[in-house]
Amino acid sequence: MIRTALAAALLLAAPAPALAKDDTPAADPARLKALVEKLVAFGTRHTLSSATDPKRGIGAARNWGAGEFARISKACGGCLTVERISDRFEGPRAPSGVVVENVLAIQKGSDLNRVIIIAGHIDSRVTDPMDYTSDAPGANDDGSGTALVLEAARLLSKDKHRATIVYALLSGEEQGLWGGKLIARHAKDKGWQVVAMLNNDIVGGTHGTDGTIVDNRVRVFSEGIRASEDLAAQLARRGIGGEDDGPSRALAKAAVRAGEANPAIGLEVLAVRRPDRFRRGGDHLPSLELGYPAIRFTVGIEDYDHQHQDLRTENGRKYGDTIDEMDFPYLARVTALNVALARELAAAPPAPANVSIDGAVSSDTKISWTQVDGAAAYRIYWRRADGGDWTHSQLVPADTAAAGRTLKGVIVDDNFFGVSAVSATGEESIVTFGGLPPAQ
Ligand SMILES: [Zn+2]
Repeated sequence: MIRTALAAALLLAAPAPALAKDDTPAADPARLKALVEKLVAFGTRHTLSSATDPKRGIGAARNWGAGEFARISKACGGCLTVERISDRFEGPRAPSGVVVENVLAIQKGSDLNRVIIIAGHIDSRVTDPMDYTSDAPGANDDGSGTALVLEAARLLSKDKHRATIVYALLSGEEQGLWGGKLIARHAKDKGWQVVAMLNNDIVGGTHGTDGTIVDNRVRVFSEGIRASEDLAAQLARRGIGGEDDGPSRALAKAAVRAGEANPAIGLEVLAVRRPDRFRRGGDHLPSLELGYPAIRFTVGIEDYDHQHQDLRTENGRKYGDTIDEMDFPYLARVTALNVALARELAAAPPAPANVSIDGAVSSDTKISWTQVDGAAAYRIYWRRADGGDWTHSQLVPADTAAAGRTLKGVIVDDNFFGVSAVSATGEESIVTFGGLPPAQ
């Protein structure tokens, strides 16, 4: 049945990609609110706060997170393995050093080693990044991301997936992106093939500082020029104009596609072509340094009075990252988008390792790529070389990989090309950009 549908689809050179998605995952605003309330109740979750106090501080919060994962695992017959990874970090924001611990829940897939990471940071802060005693509710930053990770685990653990999914509650973000470093290093040590690192940091608000409301849009930040590439790789990329098409950018475009394919979620994805917000950072950056496709989800508009602020009222104006400033139906939508994207990528085959293009001094372009195990089809993409988004695509059968495909009348100089791998049920990998030398 499904194969027939795919065969029928292959006959059509579809102008735009469409993901065969049926249901919108039901992320629950009330549940998300209860999770953030619980996180706020730990008083502060500053990385330098108590690791041992049973009620207040980062340690109590992490233990609670591990307990939530265990509860979710019980409901899926033990499908999650809860792990804690830790290391000691030292820096200007922890001069005497601190043990940073991440709490992970691992849902093993049939392709054990292909990993999708869904992350948020559990630590919080106030105005002074060294103040580890004052109340730091961190409701939106990043109670929202933490709650999203737990809710995504609850929803995605209802099904088995092809890729392994790692749900990650990170610490030490506000002190130096240490939890992000720890998870990236752990992935490398374990030899994970990271398909995607989805960092969710400040994802539960819709009010801007000036009162503007944005409740139908989420921003996704991705790098263009890759932090992980050496000079030779950078020069090769420069030579073909691939600055806008690294794996992180391709992942951001997959997020855009997931939004478009699931209109019921009601979120437009604004794919900002920067690694993060202007002069600011997040826990996906260390993953980018190691070459993993990583993106940051964050609200469509920020309220600077309600992040990293001491709780206070000045001239009738309230400051502080408190729960009353949040929008839980919105957080549920961002959660649903993460779930839809993770579900898609977890079911898709790996992206082609290499895509070659050929066509210098010719009217046509020939495109070929390395075969992918488990791919039932591939989608070739192209666009004019003065634009950023793919405008044309063609679904081609699995046996095209070896032979390649010639695009008649498409001039190699004037266009960019890429290829994704598609499963028998229509799920699609991120797009591999064409024309780079074979990956190491
Ligand atoms: Zn944050």
